[in-house]
Amino acid sequence: MVVFFSVKLKELFKKERDYPWPKPENCSCCLSSRLWGHGFAEAIFDGYNRPLLLKLYRCPDCGCVIRLRPIGYFKRFQASIETIRSSITLKSTRNRWLSGIGRSRQGHWFLALKKRIKACLTDTWVEGVVAGFDYLLQLGQIPISRSI
Ligand SMILES: [Zn+2]
Repeated sequence: MVVFFSVKLKELFKKERDYPWPKPENCSCCLSSRLWGHGFAEAIFDGYNRPLLLKLYRCPDCGCVIRLRPIGYFKRFQASIETIRSSITLKSTRNRWLSGIGRSRQGHWFLALKKRIKACLTDTWVEGVVAGFDYLLQLGQIPISRSI
C-alpha cells in the first residue's frame, strides 16, 4: 500500500533517517489507528547520486505495510511527473528529447504512453499525446506504465 505525502527531497537526502516524516492517521487497509514504524526502503530519484530512504509503517492489526512516497512522482519511476510530461511535450511538439536524461528512457515513456492511449482511450482519441497524458493522469492512472 503506497501513500503519497509532500516530501522535500533535498532535505530527505541530507537528513536520511532523521527526516521528519509525517505519520498517517490510519492504516489505509483496515483504518486502524495503530501504526508502527517499520524501517525504510531505498528508492532512486533523478538528481540524487544515492538512494533516498522512504519511511515504512506497519499496521499491527492487519499486517499491511504502508510505504510513504513523495507527491509528484509515480510509483517505480525515478523522474518527476513534471519532467516526464515535459519530455513528452517536447517530443510531440518538436520531435526532440530533453537533455540530461537518457534518450532510451524517454523513448520508453513515449512509447508506453502511446500504447496506453491506444488501449484505454482507443484509436478515436485525437487530442494528442500530451492531452492523453493529462487525461489518464486525471483518471488516476500512471500514463506511462507498461502494465495494462
Ligand atoms: Zn491495518
